[in-house]
Amino acid sequence: MFAVTILGNNSAIPTPDRHPTSQVITYNEQLMLVDCGEGTQMQLAFYKVKRSKIRHIFISHLHGDHYFGLIGLLNSLSLLGRTDPLSIYGPPELEEIIQMQLRTAATVLRFDMQFHALLPDKTGLLLSERDMEVHYFSTRHRIPCYGFSFSMQRKKRKVIPEQARAYEIPAAYFSRLQDGADYERKDGTIVRNDWVTLPPATARRYVYCADTIYDEDLIPHIQGADLVYHETTYLHNLQQRAADRFHSTSVQAATLADKAGARRLLIGHFSSKYADLQPFLDETLPIFPHTELALEGTTYLV
Ligand SMILES: [Zn+2]
Ligand SMILES: [Zn+2]
Repeated sequence: MFAVTILGNNSAIPTPDRHPTSQVITYNEQLMLVDCGEGTQMQLAFYKVKRSKIRHIFISHLHGDHYFGLIGLLNSLSLLGRTDPLSIYGPPELEEIIQMQLRTAATVLRFDMQFHALLPDKTGLLLSERDMEVHYFSTRHRIPCYGFSFSMQRKKRKVIPEQARAYEIPAAYFSRLQDGADYERKDGTIVRNDWVTLPPATARRYVYCADTIYDEDLIPHIQGADLVYHETTYLHNLQQRAADRFHSTSVQAATLADKAGARRLLIGHFSSKYADLQPFLDETLPIFPHTELALEGTTYLV
């Protein structure tokens, strides 16, 4: 499974039923957290997400609605006895902020926290493991801000058990078949790998665009993605306010997804001035029909 679960879909000011930004990416039973606004650990508990399984946390930028929940989560993980290492990726100042909070509270985390600084205006590979690759890129916001692209590529071939058994290949050899090896039978004949396996599934990609003004420079990063998250802080009549604050509108998010040829669009980071989210869909659907609202507690398959 490769999916994203929304924990917070609001912009800066939380409302009783909407929280600041946070999302959980699930892949191969592993969890990664994307942004960690205030209240994220309560949302994790509320939606029964296993905190202990989070191995990587990505922080897009240092506006509080994207990281004010981080120190609380780190504290709780330590109190709960976590010993597995945890990687945090974010702007360089974040490491200083975390260390200062820990130092002044005389808190020593029980686990190894590895910090990876994102460098301004850079783009590149952040993480590559098993089937998952994570890249980052800059977005255009009031302060340095980064988007993340998650692509899941199954590297192993899929064994067709009936076929493999028909050629009398022992099950103990299946893992070599998954890696692409041929099989040599006792009589010296060769069973070609592609007779008994299928190619790996094609890569699937989720792109998180964080906070950003409308920016066509993002297109190369989201081109052809299966699912794109783009902020829509405001409806279109507040286009000027959006631009002044380096945010985007519903129409702009849909336009960008359309221009980039994305397959599906998820919109969120709604201003707390909106109680009803339906108008966001009403404005995006005519431009980009495969749009969904990012709703808290909902899981979207990539
Ligand atoms: Zn924000
Ligand atoms: Zn921001």
